[in-house]
Amino acid sequence: MASVEIAGLGKRFGAATVLHPTDLHIEDGEFVVIVGPSGCGKSTLLRLVSGLEQPSQGRLSIGGRDVTDAAPADRGVAMVFQSYALYPHLTVAENIAFPLKVARVPRAERDRRVAAVADALDLTELLARRPRALSGGQRQRVSIGRAIVRDPKVLLLDEPLSNLDTGLRVRMRHEFARLHQRLGATMIYVTHDQLEAMTLANRIVVMNAGRVEQVGAPLDLYARPASLAVAAAIGSPA
Ligand code: ADP
Ligand code: MG
Repeated sequence: MASVEIAGLGKRFGAATVLHPTDLHIEDGEFVVIVGPSGCGKSTLLRLVSGLEQPSQGRLSIGGRDVTDAAPADRGVAMVFQSYALYPHLTVAENIAFPLKVARVPRAERDRRVAAVADALDLTELLARRPRALSGGQRQRVSIGRAIVRDPKVLLLDEPLSNLDTGLRVRMRHEFARLHQRLGATMIYVTHDQLEAMTLANRIVVMNAGRVEQVGAPLDLYARPASLAVAAAIGSPA
């Protein structure tokens, strides 16, 4: 677990400002959901926290340590994407073990960690399969397994359910709530699904056009949206 301190973090691509300087403090173990219209900078903010993107300005601390210049693998964060990004030629077990292999974790310890993650995510029966022999929900569970196998302090999820059908989305929503309790990790979760945001979040961050518009508890935002953009993102009666 770790707090995340975003201080004046901003991103420009050439002349375009994609993320205006942003301040955001996320508590240890908090479940924060980011919502906002397509193109408003949600993925960019996650990528800055993960280190997949370098900021144009500002600082980032995780667990009290300044990681602005740290490599992605050295931040204690892991990311789950909308497209599962699994390796098609590797089995489920090998996909989950991959980050451990890269980190040169010994074989016996790798096997132990993979078994524990598979158990937590109901994947034990599927460990020998390859991704093409899995359903969408199973694939997404594998990509979550791969993300949590190194015990991240912060788990970043970028629209993890948007490729799944409605029934499965509801089930997986409960999975995420359970996973959050079990891991105790700080979670930052991007979605455009209002129900997901309302049910999962300790706090919701509403973004619009590269800025944070409002931050608050779900019911507070719903009852008192500060702008039409927030009302639209949260689904409150305008
Ligand atoms: P969201 O996830 O909220 O849909 P993104 O963070 O993906 O939004 O993108 C925000 C804006 O930044 C968009 O206008 C997008 O076109 C732009 N953008 C994202 N990545 C790049 C890039 N590598 N180069 C130039 N523009 C980018
Ligand atoms: Mg996005």
